[in-house]
Amino acid sequence: MLNNELWVESFIVGALAMRCSVVTDLKTGDTVIIDGGSETDRIISWIEDFSGQGPDWSKGPNDFDSMNSYGLSKRKVIALVNTHAHFDHSGEIPYLLDRYHVSWYLHPEDDYLQSLAQISAQRWGFKLPTPAIADKQLEDNMTLTLGSLTFEIYHTPGHTLGGCCIEVKIEDGPNHLFAGDTLFAGSVGRTDLPHSGGDFNLLAHSVITKLWPLDVDTVVHPGHGPLTAIGVEKSTNPFVGVNSPAFAEFRKS
Ligand SMILES: [Zn+2]
Ligand SMILES: [Zn+2]
Repeated sequence: MLNNELWVESFIVGALAMRCSVVTDLKTGDTVIIDGGSETDRIISWIEDFSGQGPDWSKGPNDFDSMNSYGLSKRKVIALVNTHAHFDHSGEIPYLLDRYHVSWYLHPEDDYLQSLAQISAQRWGFKLPTPAIADKQLEDNMTLTLGSLTFEIYHTPGHTLGGCCIEVKIEDGPNHLFAGDTLFAGSVGRTDLPHSGGDFNLLAHSVITKLWPLDVDTVVHPGHGPLTAIGVEKSTNPFVGVNSPAFAEFRKS
């Protein structure tokens, strides 16, 4: 199903400069937080009051007056969704769940990694609460309807076992893809992180089979670094693009 009147924001949060994305239907106020893993106070303050530092990138209102001009008086957080369970993406989910009492969606193959979030963060010198447990599961190729919002889920293992990319399709386009650490501008996520099940060949297979068929003008919101587009990465990404060794290998098989 297609979404329209969509409001997308990026917050670059935490010591690892991770992208948290907030998606709101401007007609209903229904809001979903993707990868709300760090600086949750900052995200909550902005969603509820337009106060504090605010987003690093936004395609929507930036105060109550402009929001009211869409006929919307407040936003309602209705669910949390994660691309994967590295602690910078998921460590502070408990704080969001305390605030909103909503469901949290994660692919079950990242449940083990998620259970280690607090221990993994300690190794980097960060203190986190007891890890949250996802109460809802993402599945490959599912259409996830949350309130008035609709998301397409693609299971894209390789960076982690349960990594997923999340697409919102927009009536007049372009669509948006929340790619986690599967695909970056000019790069891909690491495949050597502990307890994650990383595998470069698997990651390349995931990107080539699940992401390259998407519309070329799809805006990609990676877990780290600048925004990009599917068409740009497909033609120029040195690791998984159509001119990469991994792509040549894929075509042979
Ligand atoms: Zn990651
Ligand atoms: Zn990350």
